[in-house]
Amino acid sequence: MYNVMSLKAEEFISDEEIRETLEYADAHKEDLEVIDRILAKARERKGLTHREASVLLACDIPEKVEEFFTLAEQLKKDYYGNRIVLFAPLYLSNYCVNGCVYCPYHAKNKHIARKKLTQEEIIKEVTALQDMGHKRLAIEAGEDPVNNPIEYILECIRTIYSIKHKNGAIRRVNVNIAATTVENYRKLKEAEIGTYILFQETYHKESYEKLHPAGPKHDYAYHTEAMDRAMEGGIDDVGLGVLFGLELYRYEFAGLLMHAEHLEAVHGVGPHTISVPRIKHADDIDPSAFDNSISDDIFAKICALIRISVPYTGMIISTRESQEVRERVLPLGVSQISGASRTSVGGYAEPETKEEVTSAQFDVSDQRTLDEVVNWLMKLDYIPSFCTACYREGRTGDRFMSLCKNMQILNCCHPNALMTLKEYLEDYASEETKELGMALIERELEKIPNPKVKRIAAEHIHDIAEGKRDFRF
Ligand code: SAM
Repeated sequence: MYNVMSLKAEEFISDEEIRETLEYADAHKEDLEVIDRILAKARERKGLTHREASVLLACDIPEKVEEFFTLAEQLKKDYYGNRIVLFAPLYLSNYCVNGCVYCPYHAKNKHIARKKLTQEEIIKEVTALQDMGHKRLAIEAGEDPVNNPIEYILECIRTIYSIKHKNGAIRRVNVNIAATTVENYRKLKEAEIGTYILFQETYHKESYEKLHPAGPKHDYAYHTEAMDRAMEGGIDDVGLGVLFGLELYRYEFAGLLMHAEHLEAVHGVGPHTISVPRIKHADDIDPSAFDNSISDDIFAKICALIRISVPYTGMIISTRESQEVRERVLPLGVSQISGASRTSVGGYAEPETKEEVTSAQFDVSDQRTLDEVVNWLMKLDYIPSFCTACYREGRTGDRFMSLCKNMQILNCCHPNALMTLKEYLEDYASEETKELGMALIERELEKIPNPKVKRIAAEHIHDIAEGKRDFRF
């Protein structure tokens, strides 16, 4: 039944295979010979299969857990360096016809304020985001063919890209909207989106159907096969994720890796990113109603194992997580984080007050400003990056992966991170952040191995101080 190459959801995410995987993991979770063999393979940077990674997830032997945490940190350094890419979500509309029981946008929620941004309101939101320093957005919308048809989404993308306010610009729009048709994915590709993101929520079909009792999202196969349609439509950067807390985390973890293996096997390129959201409190949602919530320790273990199982896939942590948790998982393999996020529709230009009826999707745990986040990252010795170069230079899909595999990050992403940080410091940073950042850029320039790249990056950084913008390798 299990077939990684199949285009049928229930064959590439086979329930039977996941169950056998979990049995295999339980049988070998203390088997040092098997564990050491898996760790040796991970050390060769070949990634791990869902079976191998599941054994490590089940393993509680402290020295072995320590080994894979250390390895995750090493792989993160080797492939991604110390830069962290920043982005913000932009909620376009919370009209939704689905019935997702964990999401306050579900159609039966009469309490939430329903809002849909007009193009004028988008200009206000994007201006506010540009004024913070953001260059990369992830647009979010509920599923509603009448209120949020694909034409509306495409119009919003055009508006977002067209806004040039002071030195600001949104240079990459990632899209997180419901599963759709090949034709619509083609339209999104033509609109020059970055990554198409769609969370699976849960890979467990029976639970999936119960958690999505109504609306088009009820269809497990249509949702699970969406990434194949996106790739058929020409989008080669896709972002996976599960909503941890809905089902048993070990089941989800195996399913997530099977999905990545499937994309790699069928399309020759795995997921561009993996997100690891956990359920949060929201308008009429109580997270304690979902009894599969995971501890911070398990969460960290999952992050470390994603890093060593799919070394070339970016990992995203949103503001669903607190500063403390983010600090813990950053070194384990996270490559992108959101900053200063608002999950309400229109919340950047006009933040909602506590007394107002909310339009927010969930409560954010990390409420700091972008300047505070940038400052914090630099104090932890990370380079906050506003880079969007890869997809603008056509380095998507396997071309990005090969850059990563050949460890060219230091000659490419690293200088791009420094140049975009310099733009941020010049245009948006507080005095303290600027001072910290200038010193960091000086230090980090020295790490660029190729002398020519180093010289050009230094010249561009000088030019940015003189008022020029948008350099990239
Ligand atoms: N409507 C689209 C869809 O169905 O995929 C777009 C996604 S929605 C705007 C973004 C994601 O937020 C969902 O895929 C879900 O995983 C997550 N989400 C929903 N409710 C949440 C909650 N209470 N806490 C945390 N994340 C939640």
